[in-house]
Amino acid sequence: MKIADTILDLIGNTPLVRLNKVTEGIGATVLVKLEYFNPGGSAKDRIATRIIDAAERDGLLLPGGTIVEPTSGNTGVGLALVAQQRGYRCVFVLPDKVGEDKRNVLTAYGAEVVVTPTSVAPDDPASYYSVSDRLAREIPGAFKPNQYANPNGPLSHYESTGPEIWRDTDGTVTHFVAGVGTGGTITGTGRYLREVSGDTVRIIGADPEGSVYSGGTGRPYLVEGVGEDFWPAAYDPAVVHEVIAVSDADSFAMTRRLALEEGILVGGSSGMAVVAALRAAATLPADAVVVVLLPDGGRGYLGKIFNDKWMRSYGFSNAPAGHTVADLLE
Ligand code: PMP
Repeated sequence: MKIADTILDLIGNTPLVRLNKVTEGIGATVLVKLEYFNPGGSAKDRIATRIIDAAERDGLLLPGGTIVEPTSGNTGVGLALVAQQRGYRCVFVLPDKVGEDKRNVLTAYGAEVVVTPTSVAPDDPASYYSVSDRLAREIPGAFKPNQYANPNGPLSHYESTGPEIWRDTDGTVTHFVAGVGTGGTITGTGRYLREVSGDTVRIIGADPEGSVYSGGTGRPYLVEGVGEDFWPAAYDPAVVHEVIAVSDADSFAMTRRLALEEGILVGGSSGMAVVAALRAAATLPADAVVVVLLPDGGRGYLGKIFNDKWMRSYGFSNAPAGHTVADLLE
């Protein structure tokens, strides 16, 4: 019998699956790593355990303490899982562009949520960075993991995500593609894969058009969890060979195609990463093995990317739906 002692023991060891339909015309193998198989539903479960373990070890988080963090939702879920198991309180600060489903999942795990405006500068007192700083100062026993600068974020990917990809591809991976938010995923995973391969694996970032990683100024975009308007310490640009900018429209169209054609229901940053991967793969030889990390599942985006009305309201065309019963009845 294989029985996990707690839910936390099920974090990591997520599966790899080949893309078969959206890769039409591409010779290289394109594999996606499905992080929604983590118990909290995203890659962020990985960083949460390592960050809290380290905080306990370093005396930054004491019994009865409170975890305060600005998070687009996924990091909050991971932290909430660990906190719940160990008796900590959680307060999460979210920008208002984050979907309601993502907020509700945090409160379902017992966390408290504070919502802040998206369209203000990071140093504005109302920004989610500023609000979380203030709460971390004012709540007694507060610990702010600061996923943007905490070295345990990239380290968790260096120790788990990277080795899993190397092991599961039998060392045949040639390219790694991931969206860049805090930069922890691409920095940790990329660093490991470069080291273990004798620096032959090529590391490619995917970024929303307008974000700083691909040369933008931080202009707003709709895809969630990726792109920044500043350079976080968790991101090491020296690890990354290339960053490909992807529009919201292309990201969302691919997100829909992944569900419709591959049976993979994931979030918008996953669609974005796949668009970047396919652009990179288009010129690669047949023996290339491209691994794309898909950070979370699509359930948190049903009211947005998978909602025709929402898509139309932003001027995005709907996914090719083929013939529907509604078409026949019209
Ligand atoms: N996609 C989603 C949905 C996320 O929540 C995040 C985390 N911010 C990322 C991608 C990017 O991961 P990282 O912060 O490790 O760069």
